Amino acid sequence: MAQRILVGVAWPYADGPLHLGHIAGAYLPADIFARYHRVKGNEVLMVSGSDQHGTPITLKAEREGKDPAQIVARYHQGFLDSWQDLGISFDLFTRTGTANHAEVVQDIFLTLLKKDYIYRDSVSQPYCPRCERFLTDRYIEGGCPYCQSPRARGDQCDDCGKPLNPAELLAPRCAFCGTAPEFRDSEHFFLRLSAFQDRLLEWIQGKGYWRQNVLNFTRRYLEGGLRDRAITRDIAWGVPVPVDGFESKRIYVWFEAVIGYLSASKEWAQSTGDAERWRDYWQADETKVYNFIGKDNIVFHTIIWPAMLMGYEGLNLPYDVPANEFLTIEGKKLSTSRGWAVWVPDYLSRYDPDPLRYLLSANMPETSDTDFSWREFVRRNNDELVATYGNLAHRVLTFTARHFEGAVPAPAGGATPTPLETSCAAVFREMGEDLERCQFRLALKRAMALAQEANRFLDEKAPWKVIKEDRQAAADALYPAISVISCLRTMLYPFLPFSSQKLHEYLGFTGRVEDGGWQPRVPVPGQKLLSPQPLFTKLDESVVEEESARLGKTLEH
Ligand SMILES: [Zn+2]
Ligand SMILES: [Zn+2]
Repeated sequence: MAQRILVGVAWPYADGPLHLGHIAGAYLPADIFARYHRVKGNEVLMVSGSDQHGTPITLKAEREGKDPAQIVARYHQGFLDSWQDLGISFDLFTRTGTANHAEVVQDIFLTLLKKDYIYRDSVSQPYCPRCERFLTDRYIEGGCPYCQSPRARGDQCDDCGKPLNPAELLAPRCAFCGTAPEFRDSEHFFLRLSAFQDRLLEWIQGKGYWRQNVLNFTRRYLEGGLRDRAITRDIAWGVPVPVDGFESKRIYVWFEAVIGYLSASKEWAQSTGDAERWRDYWQADETKVYNFIGKDNIVFHTIIWPAMLMGYEGLNLPYDVPANEFLTIEGKKLSTSRGWAVWVPDYLSRYDPDPLRYLLSANMPETSDTDFSWREFVRRNNDELVATYGNLAHRVLTFTARHFEGAVPAPAGGATPTPLETSCAAVFREMGEDLERCQFRLALKRAMALAQEANRFLDEKAPWKVIKEDRQAAADALYPAISVISCLRTMLYPFLPFSSQKLHEYLGFTGRVEDGGWQPRVPVPGQKLLSPQPLFTKLDESVVEEESARLGKTLEH
């Protein structure tokens, strides 16, 4: 029976272009997962959008002397282009600046307020006497009280991942002028997180299937005790607070951005012509909600958002939150401010999407940080994509074109499946289980092992030798190999959608790979093949040096 699956992916801040850390952290795993489930025939809705509020954006706007809306528009379009070119297959990628989003956020805010899960309190807020403004979140910097990092900001410490309140910072300073702030009273709304501690602890009891790092982080966090958190700010950019007297304040970004999963689902439903369809994903018990995020985002998805949903009632909580660890670049921590990053638009201006998708999948930071290096990029492209998989497909297809008039030859056949056929069926089953458990590296490894097995089989049978004296023996060797590449076309489709679609057409199929089902589907004898081009291009070793020289020099633009 078909399952229904909501894939909600982290909302990127529209304050810079996408880099490989984003892709490896959340967007690629989400896309692989969504594509797999679509092939399997499940109902999938994959949504996200630009997070256009929050202090990273207003800070950048102020530093560039622009309006935040201009910054957001620039990067939002860039995101859409990157998804298209990299094959990240969103059903909807929207923004947090829509009227629909504001409406959904305000509904949740008012409902939680009515149920007393949101309350009003006066707080002392850091205020810079020199800049004459309140310093919320990223406008204030200082030391982390948990890990002593000197670089913590008022909303979070990037080094240990803990969310912070500005008052907790050690030796706080204004992010603009460096002045030590004074504290002044300001009226704000608070989310009563403390009321959810026991319910959340009970909820995660049933989450033994979560990744260990996600479960451990969440449990430790809950056991440390939940404190209520302010959810409004003294800023002018964001979703308005729907309460009289709060016109100069906004609902803060970490409260409203997670609501985007719901507002995006509603916007998507509107666009299908059936405005109530979002209910299938949020109110039907059997629907599974997955949130793909980076590890710096765990607390928002396993504690704060579930607490908001528990308070609101009647909507599905996340089923799984397969957070990835971080990607380092050439052995060093990725840093956008220092230009130590590989930008997606830059990459795509020089290379095809599939080799990057391949490397980041094979090396995905699923359980620990992993490293991206250009040397490994070239090696995996040349040794694995070109030499193992691409070469298998190419020699099978060109040999068939040359010796069998470009049509799939008929094997002599027998009732028992060949060992390769048995392998295909097993790999489909095993990969399916891996992918459903979000074990992407393992799944990819199995497909590549099958390609190697098929290469060994071909080398052994050597149809190019036997063709001269025994045409049937050549056909008997070729047919299982054609069957394997036909299976690989589907197995690798979630990872390598562009080359899979090409191979699909070379094999004489029409339509989309996605519609063929997660199962061995092989060409029938006599099926006409298209004249093939190599699926992948060998890269010169000089790429390593050229690309390494760019690192640290290309600042975000
Ligand atoms: Zn810290
Ligand atoms: Zn200042």
